[in-house]
Amino acid sequence: MLFSDIGIIDENFEYQPHKWVGVQGAHISFVGDEAPWDAERYGEVYDGANRLLMPGMYNAHAHAPMVLLRGWGEALPLQSWLNDRIFPFEAKMEALDNFWGTTLAIAEMLRYGTVSYSDMYYHADQRFRACNRAGMKINLGETLLSFDPVPYQDLPMAELNARLLREYHMADDGRLRVDFNLHAEYTSNPTTAASFAEAAVDAGVCMQVHVSETAAEVEACKERHGGQTPVEYLAAMGIFDVPTNAAHCVWLEEGDYAILRDKAVTVSTNPVSNAKLGSGFARVPRLLDEGITVALGTDGAASNNNLDMFQDLYVLALVASGAAQDPTVLPPAKALEIATRAGALSQGREDCGLITEGMRADICVLDTSGPSWTPETDMVSNIVYAGHGSDVCLTMVDGRVLYRDGVWPTIDVERARAEVSAATARIAGEL
Ligand SMILES: [Zn+2]
Repeated sequence: MLFSDIGIIDENFEYQPHKWVGVQGAHISFVGDEAPWDAERYGEVYDGANRLLMPGMYNAHAHAPMVLLRGWGEALPLQSWLNDRIFPFEAKMEALDNFWGTTLAIAEMLRYGTVSYSDMYYHADQRFRACNRAGMKINLGETLLSFDPVPYQDLPMAELNARLLREYHMADDGRLRVDFNLHAEYTSNPTTAASFAEAAVDAGVCMQVHVSETAAEVEACKERHGGQTPVEYLAAMGIFDVPTNAAHCVWLEEGDYAILRDKAVTVSTNPVSNAKLGSGFARVPRLLDEGITVALGTDGAASNNNLDMFQDLYVLALVASGAAQDPTVLPPAKALEIATRAGALSQGREDCGLITEGMRADICVLDTSGPSWTPETDMVSNIVYAGHGSDVCLTMVDGRVLYRDGVWPTIDVERARAEVSAATARIAGEL
């Protein structure tokens, strides 16, 4: 595909009007001020009038199958939300529920310009199957919760992860990746956590883990582990000895920042989920000042309640300025980088998340003909503060169009909606 005379967000997160962008295979092969000399080799020419081409969104923290639980646990504090509503529902979820939930979640993400996501949940086989069929990009693992002090190697999950690594890790030219997932400090124990960290080093995979989401979690961790914060505890267990995506990090203490920086941990912030559950506001400007990479996630649809990264981007920017009482702490270009390039890097995808020659063609195109896009005084600010996910008219992953103008060529969205509705009704009837 050759995008003709189109506005783009370049590799410095600046707006450049009237560009030509060529995609061949899975990669961006041309970016220039006029048509390439070999324009006829590109196939379809996409008219760039009233369109803006930018890197797709990288959702750095999700629980895709939780679309089944959208609206299931409203207006509850985190621990009773989890214990009274979420965990009992999840205990009734079957393997295929994860396939259809993931399929519907992918449709929603693609609709709003997301090209890749990091996922923490169960039934990894079904989720990989859904991603593979849809063409979505994914970092995914089976989530480890373990209250008994059993070495990881002795858990059934060790065998499952070994098989997932063989079957899916780096499949389809790296589109599918296996991460190891430790649910959290409060759902694990030192024996299992430390041996799990060693296994992650041996396997050469990335880690995903929930960290310091609530004040209560931090206090309980300190009581359990001799005053250690969750960051200190997880570092001591070796969890951060592989590239780690630490979700939330709302309640960090002074010593935590240096650990996260020194271990090169990426913090995936979830401002909408944290606000909705009343957990608080991550100090994103402070994290950036400390030299810590920050990426952006939606969290699950039970605590957001949507997977539209443009809304999370909007709230990210607003909360950073509002909480700091300083409108300079997170410029729109930086917020956009957090939602795109930083997320790609958190997934170990060095060749993703920028619109420049040689990068993978993970792209979303916005329709800027709507009233909120005029005038074009500051298009980067327009994306963050005036645009909407519903302005996305095309989403491309590794050069494949997976959403365009109301059509998902790889997904039966009506079937997914029906299956998810039926599954939620079935489980609600059993509870
Ligand atoms: Zn989460």
